[in-house]
Amino acid sequence: MKLCRFNDDRLGVVEGDEVRDVTGVLDRLPLFRASFPKHDPVIARLPELMPALAEAARAAPALALSGVTLLSPVGNPGKVVAAPVNYMKHLDEAIADPHTFSAAHARAIQESGLFLKATSSITGMSGGVRLRFPHRRNDHEVELVAVIGRAGSDIAAADALDHVAGYCIGLDMTVRGPEERSFRKSVDSYTVLGPWLVTADEFGSPEDVGLELSVSGEPRQKARTKDLILSVRDLIVFASSFYSLLPGDILMTGTPEGVGPVNPGDIIRASIERIGQIEVAVRNA
Ligand code: MN
Repeated sequence: MKLCRFNDDRLGVVEGDEVRDVTGVLDRLPLFRASFPKHDPVIARLPELMPALAEAARAAPALALSGVTLLSPVGNPGKVVAAPVNYMKHLDEAIADPHTFSAAHARAIQESGLFLKATSSITGMSGGVRLRFPHRRNDHEVELVAVIGRAGSDIAAADALDHVAGYCIGLDMTVRGPEERSFRKSVDSYTVLGPWLVTADEFGSPEDVGLELSVSGEPRQKARTKDLILSVRDLIVFASSFYSLLPGDILMTGTPEGVGPVNPGDIIRASIERIGQIEVAVRNA
């Protein structure tokens, strides 16, 4: 199943180039008063909601996807976990260009560990990327994103993929420079998620899917997830060895070689097999 959030926080089931509004199913969720949970309540209940979502989709009128505003497919993630340099060839390009990539950051992921991005940086594909520092270098990074479905801590490798609710495309936008990664990558709109969540049952194995990105028609990145240094499975084990993963947590798996700058007016197109494509406009903040 492909699930999206659209317009004024509607929930949709995507079929082909149409979306069915299934927001009414959310009436089944518990109502919260303060304090609110630190996870995403829709993702947490997804397995039990899916039959109702499918049924509601059959009865709902079809809207053209081209006419809706696509938001982040996860509305309330508790954290964004991200993998630094996690493709060998991206490490090579970082080491080869010390003016762009500070030496402290051009290290293998097993040494660097993971980092967190502010959840306030999340946007959907329709929101676009807003460059707050247009005179610095702002890079695109296309990444396969796994959305955690089931909570866990110290998750075993054999169970890791059972903790994934689904997958989407992510852009880990980056201001290049010497500051901490989490600071440079947490600018508002610098975490683009979309176009929708493909549930894990439909997506299948994340071990070898193709991803690519172009900027205003120019091909920039093209790779397969089989070349990840730490696979999705490894990343879940690694992350959960330090902290609990909760439903709705976003896991950005790292970008392959070919990162490069974007400028106001550019259109970023990124696609991942079995998910689809996002089209993201870049402008000044
Ligand atoms: Mn990244």
